[in-house]
Amino acid sequence: SLTIPMAVVRWQDFDQDLYLGATAVRPGQDPYARNKFNQVESDKLRMDRSVPDTRHDHCRHKQWRTDLSASSVVITFHNEARSALLRTVVSVLKKSPPHLVKEIILVDDYSDNPEDGALLGKIEKVRVLRNDRREGLMRSRVRGADAATASVLTFLDSHCECNEHWLEPLLERVAEDKTRVVSPIIDVINMDNFQYVGASADLKGGFDWNLVFKWDYMTLEQRRARQGNPIAPIKTPMIAGGLFVMDKNYFEELGKYDMMMDVWGGENLEISFRVWQCGGSLEIIPCSRVGHVFRKQHPYTFPGGSGTVFASIQSRLEMKKRLGCKPFKWYLENVYPELRVPDHQDIAFGALQQGQNCLDTLGHFADGVVGVYECHNAGGNQEWALTKDKSVKHMDLCLTVVDRTAGSQIKLQGCRENDSRQKWEQIDNNSKLRHVGSNLCLDSWSARNGGLTVEVCSPSLTQQWKFTLNLQQ
Ligand code: UDP
Ligand code: MN
Repeated sequence: SLTIPMAVVRWQDFDQDLYLGATAVRPGQDPYARNKFNQVESDKLRMDRSVPDTRHDHCRHKQWRTDLSASSVVITFHNEARSALLRTVVSVLKKSPPHLVKEIILVDDYSDNPEDGALLGKIEKVRVLRNDRREGLMRSRVRGADAATASVLTFLDSHCECNEHWLEPLLERVAEDKTRVVSPIIDVINMDNFQYVGASADLKGGFDWNLVFKWDYMTLEQRRARQGNPIAPIKTPMIAGGLFVMDKNYFEELGKYDMMMDVWGGENLEISFRVWQCGGSLEIIPCSRVGHVFRKQHPYTFPGGSGTVFASIQSRLEMKKRLGCKPFKWYLENVYPELRVPDHQDIAFGALQQGQNCLDTLGHFADGVVGVYECHNAGGNQEWALTKDKSVKHMDLCLTVVDRTAGSQIKLQGCRENDSRQKWEQIDNNSKLRHVGSNLCLDSWSARNGGLTVEVCSPSLTQQWKFTLNLQQ
């Protein structure tokens, strides 16, 4: 372990330039190489830069309870840019009432340079724990949670910036009911220029059948229902996973995280299912806003490969039984009724993707043509299934070949059993859709002039279609 002088300083007195020092991006180096975000832009910012107050107006007049108990803030990191990590810590200290932050626990998940974390240990309230091997974010968070001395846990990623009064509304909800697990609205810190941009307050967390987290735009009804009280908590089927507040005892009772999970990913789905099914609830609290740097790639390695992160869940299933948790079916029906569930008739399911575009009904009904539109991951007009009886279905409409000749238009028509004009199969490794009767392939080349057609099968990119989920390989 490291021996560093432990003279504690207020965050205002911490020497940012000295800390960033040798880690700056050198001329000619790629500013994205180390963090997969623009480190040069991150390094330029002051550790306590101000960000726009993105909250709804109603939040500004609200009085928050002051008799809340303090929280331990747990931040795990692996090779985080020093400027981003420091800003996260400083924003917690600057934007929280001091009596509500008992400590900030930094869990250094075996970063290359132990000083990234260690040097921050001299800031007031900051405690640093360092793993002596790479544990991944789940075991690192559990380590931080185990070390926490407050009764409430607040988890943050290592590249966040907390906004005005972010903490009080979260702690208030948990103080009222410890089975609530609550998240802020996660604002966007642009990974290229580090601008802080407010996120929509009309989103819930969800997932698709690849078990990938996504944001779902609220339905019109849901948005209408909120008009009277736009800052009311939003019940959400899923949390994004990096930023949330949870009672420490409840975290423990519910089984923390699966300690067999490695590196990154899936733990947010798992804890979301578990909280709902085992008697708790998940909420997004609109008056709490925290910025997060969203990026497109992982900056770190997956030791052993990303395929090895799966392990036996036997002990977790036993735990669910012990806790008397409800079945997943209950969750689907009661918590996430918006999610379309694949049918046992389905061979493939979800969006039919071609590059950035997806097969889209364009809002048409029977006898309408189909087209392509930028994929939006929200189901709706882009939701399709290939069934065992070979139809490509959107609700009760099927893709229908008008003539069996190349260049023939595709239309939506009511599904009919045994209509050979509606029979399709996937070919070439599930990368194309071939009409069975004509051996022609679904093609988007004329999408802009009159809709999709069938054409002689070829390697053309306009014939490449991929379902979100293939249930039979
Ligand atoms: N992290 C970690 N160990 C790992 C992988 C990630 O401690 O092996 C940390 C990472 O530094 C970040 C948090 O876990 O603070 C979440 O990871 P990331 O931000 O990459 O996930 P994303 O927000 O992109 O889903
Ligand atoms: Mn992150």
